[in-house]
Amino acid sequence: MKKLFVLALAAAAVLAQAQTFPGSKPITFVVPFAAGGPTDRVARDLAEAMRKSMGGSANFVVENVNGAGGTIGMAKVARAVPDGHTLLLHHIGMASAPGLYRKLSFKVADDFEYLGMINEVPMTLIGKPQLAANNYREFENYIKANAGKLNIAHAGLGSASHLCGLMWQSRLQASEAMTTIPFSGTAPAMNALVGGQVDIMCDQTTNTTAQIEAGRVKAFAVTTAKSLTGNKLLKDYPSLQELGMKGFELTIWHGLYAPKGTPPAVLTQLNNALKIALKDPDFIKKQEGLGAVVVTDKRVEPAAHKAFVASETAKLKPVIEAAGKFAD
Ligand code: ASP
Repeated sequence: MKKLFVLALAAAAVLAQAQTFPGSKPITFVVPFAAGGPTDRVARDLAEAMRKSMGGSANFVVENVNGAGGTIGMAKVARAVPDGHTLLLHHIGMASAPGLYRKLSFKVADDFEYLGMINEVPMTLIGKPQLAANNYREFENYIKANAGKLNIAHAGLGSASHLCGLMWQSRLQASEAMTTIPFSGTAPAMNALVGGQVDIMCDQTTNTTAQIEAGRVKAFAVTTAKSLTGNKLLKDYPSLQELGMKGFELTIWHGLYAPKGTPPAVLTQLNNALKIALKDPDFIKKQEGLGAVVVTDKRVEPAAHKAFVASETAKLKPVIEAAGKFAD
């Protein structure tokens, strides 16, 4: 009898929390990379769209928890109080981390509640403005002629830029031609590239578009299967696959996650707010302007997004193993 009473009290507390969620306490989006970078940018735009979709009174905060290719931020959210106030906004690193890191303090499949997918973003292979090459073939020749002298920036071992660089270099068969330089995100990496301190990077169009347009970096190729004919700025850059790298395809995506054990009613509320936000014309316009496509299919639903992440994990594992590089 006493046990039943305790259970009823606990259920009432969960219900009360769900009914009052989010209240005045802010919802924190943990971004596992530096401020000003592409993941951070998605988070800030989505926070604004979700603030609107939750009736305008919800407070959102973005917290940048950098390091170890995004896995420090992932661990922080996996261990956070599961009350809906701490969420992880992450990218394909959810699927690449299990292949790149052999020892993680959390399980991507078990320690998170999947709220849904946000967008898909192509990547671009770019170089510093002074680089003596004006198209991809010249770029490859330049790399081969300067073996051992070049470096490639990324956002830490296990990040999307690291993954892209690994995949590309293993196909180029010139990994010894470059030294990898890790940053806390591709915002600081981009500054180093524009400043000419590093030579090469592969990063999301959400970070590279404005720099390419302003001529502050050189673009050589895109990572989608085909060139981006519908994109005004990037339409003339070939895809790595069209350039002969058979089967090369890498599209980054972003998703939203809560710690395991977050009350179902809170998860439903957050997922509904996410779905409304993804239809917000301002959010869609901002994302499209940066070359990203907002998700409209069933992957906005938790179960479908979880299945998608599992399929991406299975797809990336052999690619990472073939590149033969691990983060730990
Ligand atoms: N673009 C980064 C990556 O390579 C992450 C970031 O700074 O948003 O994973």
